[in-house]
Amino acid sequence: MAALEILQFPCWDDNYGVLIHDPKAGVTASIDAPEESAVREALEGAGLKLSHIFTTHHHHDHVEGHGGLKRETGCKIYGSAQDASRIPGIDVEIEDGDRIAFGSFEVQVLETPGHTRGAVTYYIADAIAPGQGIAFTGDTMFSAGCGRLFEGTPAQMWRSFEKIAALPPSTLIYCGHEYTQANIRFALAVEPGNEALLKRKAEVDALRAQGKPTLPVPLATELETNPFLRVNSPAIRESLGLGADTPPEKVFEELRRRKDTF
Ligand SMILES: [Zn+2]
Repeated sequence: MAALEILQFPCWDDNYGVLIHDPKAGVTASIDAPEESAVREALEGAGLKLSHIFTTHHHHDHVEGHGGLKRETGCKIYGSAQDASRIPGIDVEIEDGDRIAFGSFEVQVLETPGHTRGAVTYYIADAIAPGQGIAFTGDTMFSAGCGRLFEGTPAQMWRSFEKIAALPPSTLIYCGHEYTQANIRFALAVEPGNEALLKRKAEVDALRAQGKPTLPVPLATELETNPFLRVNSPAIRESLGLGADTPPEKVFEELRRRKDTF
């Protein structure tokens, strides 16, 4: 069984670019094209030719390289039909449930609105090994955190989180930014006694001290540590002054509101 080769690299101040390559089929995709020069250098360094760009959302720090890289390589750009007018160079408009052939793999499209109207999460089952998938959540879900709600409601974002939470727990999550340390500070403020979160903090602090990324992260770890996936935690509800009868999306909304001013 083939495995995807995955290359994650920094862009701008705290964005990540990711290349995925199927060596058998000779196809290479960039998840977004955050910074043209950084994506080009990563491609050249690995000796890869770009064939696809999978866009998570329209924000400039995720699509800056679309035009230049498309002109250079003739790659096909995929992005949400909802945001086709705002995604530069888009060739293929995608919707929830679509499955895109990528070499011997299949890229599944999950619409995950909230951060933007057309935000998309991409999931690839068996990407690394049988039973070991990967997902690219863009700025929807971060490690221990959640993207800002620029174009959606908290209830919408909560539904997006539920979709991601339903992926296999072994799924490795790649996110658009390195925000983990700041996110953990907030997570600990609302759930100070969470042992898994304290363990993750130690791991993250050690990685950052060595200048290493804290991503990807298994979904299983996020389920234990990300407050935005843990709206049913009695400790979190208690910190927020919300009872057991508060609907999950209301707990989510209150968490997002508090994080905005944390
Ligand atoms: Zn964004």
